[in-house]
Amino acid sequence: MKHIVTGDRVNASAVVLPEGVLVIDASVDSQGAQAVYAEAHRQGKVLYLINTHEHHDHLAGNHLFACPIISSLPARESMVRAGARGLPTLAFSREMELHLSEPVRLRHFGGHSPGSAAVYFLERKLLFTGDLIFAGRVPYMGEADFPAWLAALKTMEAWEVETVVPGHGPQGGKELLAQQSQWLEDYIRDVREWIGQSLAPQEMLDRVLARFQVVQHWQEMLVKSFQLIQEQFGPNPKLE
Ligand SMILES: [Zn+2]
Repeated sequence: MKHIVTGDRVNASAVVLPEGVLVIDASVDSQGAQAVYAEAHRQGKVLYLINTHEHHDHLAGNHLFACPIISSLPARESMVRAGARGLPTLAFSREMELHLSEPVRLRHFGGHSPGSAAVYFLERKLLFTGDLIFAGRVPYMGEADFPAWLAALKTMEAWEVETVVPGHGPQGGKELLAQQSQWLEDYIRDVREWIGQSLAPQEMLDRVLARFQVVQHWQEMLVKSFQLIQEQFGPNPKLE
């Protein structure tokens, strides 16, 4: 019984059960998609492909798989709107359980994106968080519901977990959950403080870029995240 994580920029995984293989996310580009498809089929009969959420960098191989594809309902709706190839054939609103040779829990949280969900193998204490965790890098926050995101991480911290596979970055232990919460809390606190000081978005952006390496086209995402923090927490930081 094992699991395999492929990809460097985006994780795509395969969990091998006695009766077949569960694939979790399907890579960022066609090369990665071919690789995850081939690796999954090398391991056995592929039972299901699960999409942790609707972002295109997790869906490149969807159309290759003949098995049922599972996602949360909001993720599927976003994929339909985006015209994604290889749509989920099974969708769940809050939670779904797969009763295979071991139980698998799929839980919708939102937070990172409206459709974000986690996949949890209770018996082997193995958790796939999708993009609710970016390990060791700045998370994509262009669609963030920050309170839901923090609540999701807190909920998962109460689960018995030994191995965490994030959407991006290397797998690790349970500490990845707390680290992502801390990162987000620090970011939100700083941005609220800057909003309270009436800094212009460009000034806030300069401060973030001085701290973190972010690809050029994510600068717009950061500006959007300032706006989302303002909407979701208000401009006056009350330090609780
Ligand atoms: Zn994402």
